[in-house]
Amino acid sequence: MNSKFKLAIISLTSCAGCENAILNASPEILDFLGKDIEIVYAPIIMDSPPPSSVDIVIVTGAVRTEEDEKKLVEWRDKSKIFVSFGSCSCFGGIPGLANFFSSDTLLKYSYLKQLGTINVNNSPPSNGIPNLTDYIKPLRDYVKVDLYVPGCPPPNTLVVNLFKSIISGEKFTLSKKSVCDECPLNTGKEKVISKMRRWAFSKVDKDKCFLEQGFICLGPATRGGCGARCIKAGYPCRGCMGPAENCEDQAAKMISAISSATSIEEVSTEDLTKLLDLAGTFYRFTLPFSIFKRKIRRG
Ligand code: SF4
Ligand code: SF4
Ligand code: SF4
Repeated sequence: MNSKFKLAIISLTSCAGCENAILNASPEILDFLGKDIEIVYAPIIMDSPPPSSVDIVIVTGAVRTEEDEKKLVEWRDKSKIFVSFGSCSCFGGIPGLANFFSSDTLLKYSYLKQLGTINVNNSPPSNGIPNLTDYIKPLRDYVKVDLYVPGCPPPNTLVVNLFKSIISGEKFTLSKKSVCDECPLNTGKEKVISKMRRWAFSKVDKDKCFLEQGFICLGPATRGGCGARCIKAGYPCRGCMGPAENCEDQAAKMISAISSATSIEEVSTEDLTKLLDLAGTFYRFTLPFSIFKRKIRRG
């Protein structure tokens, strides 16, 4: 009997960055692949017919099309362990920001208004494009998810730990710390913000907490486990690991963190309105997973 775990990697609406993250996790995962785990189906990296069942399915991407919905249910039925992999899959991710618009508006924008688009028919194509769902819902609204592996894309350590836990049978866990807890710029003192600043127009001290300098850094509201990799590379956290432990809404937590660190005497409402695209900034990866979920349109 073949005792290897049979693995399928299924992509919904995604950018393929998550599949690259799996491949990039070598050489560590090469120790497992072939010996303990066999990839039997992964259309993005190999040609093979779909099997009738697998031990594990890794699902990347968000549910944006009716085809995604069908694929999701089909692979849940075929798999013993269902892994939601990457922030699109776990929370809706970047595609989830489209929940601020109707699918009609999205199609019109893409096919009529996009810079450089010339559409002689003056309407989106009526066939040959996938039917969109009305809006993006997290995978957990459709099927039972066994394991969540967040990140855009998930960091190497998480990918390796996922495979190790599958092979060993040990529980796969996520960090309960926040990105701030892992951040080398965290002094451990209460944060104080005296002015809000925009990254593109301000001088940045890369050795001082970005939030204390007035730049939006989602570290306080974001789950750790990435080793604060963006901060170590000189940029604020954008929140890709999703809400911190016991946090229902990443944006609400972040707004609360900012309000605790600012005083109205020093940071005016006018100062705060200089920050552009607040919803996109605070819900960059998690809008469908948040309390709001989407913009409701009347009529
Ligand atoms: S989580 Fe990030 S890397 Fe993965 S599919 Fe979504 S956008 Fe791409
Ligand atoms: S707010 Fe950002 S820069 Fe400051 S300690 Fe937290 S993660 Fe580090
Ligand atoms: S620092 Fe923030 S944005 Fe960067 S990988 Fe970690 S969670 Fe994601």
